[in-house]
Amino acid sequence: MFPIVRPEGVSAHVGIIGGSGLYDPGIVEEPVEVRVYTPYGEPSDFIVVGKVKGVPVAFLPRHGRGHRIPPHMINYRANIWALKTLGVKWVVSVSAVGSLRWDYRPGDFVVPDQFIDMTKGRKYTFFDGPITAHVSMADPFCDDLREKIIDTVKGLGYPVHGKGTYVCIEGPRFSTRAESRVWKEVFKADIIGMTLVPEVNLACEAQLCYATLAMVTDYDVWAEHPVTAEEVEKIMKQNTERARKVLYELIPKLAGEPDEKKCSCCKSLSYAIV
Ligand SMILES: [Zn+2]
Repeated sequence: MFPIVRPEGVSAHVGIIGGSGLYDPGIVEEPVEVRVYTPYGEPSDFIVVGKVKGVPVAFLPRHGRGHRIPPHMINYRANIWALKTLGVKWVVSVSAVGSLRWDYRPGDFVVPDQFIDMTKGRKYTFFDGPITAHVSMADPFCDDLREKIIDTVKGLGYPVHGKGTYVCIEGPRFSTRAESRVWKEVFKADIIGMTLVPEVNLACEAQLCYATLAMVTDYDVWAEHPVTAEEVEKIMKQNTERARKVLYELIPKLAGEPDEKKCSCCKSLSYAIV
């Protein structure tokens, strides 16, 4: 691990990582674009720092503006490191996912509580030696943050599933039908995407409170449920609009510090360094 140096005069309390569709939060007041350099290279884009209802936030589009960076090429370490250097405590990760079950419908929100990692070759850790750490991933998400996200989505009247297992595949290709059936029937996963890992691992190592606001775009190929590009686009547009509203209501609830009874994120590293 390198020492964390905060850029002068710029800081944030809540970090938002925007996924497919959400390249510009559109809710940040007094936005300033900040370029953060990290020991791991450059983050996906400039970071927009400003306020939402008075709470200092930092917004980073995971794929870069214009969706320039595919999931397997994202510099996850630089992204998490950059948010950490800005002083962020909470990270809300927004992402588009496919569904592996009929009752998680396109347009629904899911706040996963577990994941399965099927990625193949990413940079998974800040601890490449000589310091070695094995962080606990038994409960990979911040329960305090998950609860706040679920309450906010419910408060807005949008459909939300408060649990789910996210299987993260390497991409950039989609699954074969045989693979999709394995994720669904053998792994019992609920949603599928390409970007959760190693973002979640790194957030944990950085002792950030991290949770995912996943938005179902369509059914994965197990369903043999053909959809047109227009239908997917319509759902993505709706999801993005709703995600903005969720963030706008959620961020003020993150003005304080995490509740230590519900969250062990900030302590996960203290037992992990060997
Ligand atoms: Zn936490």
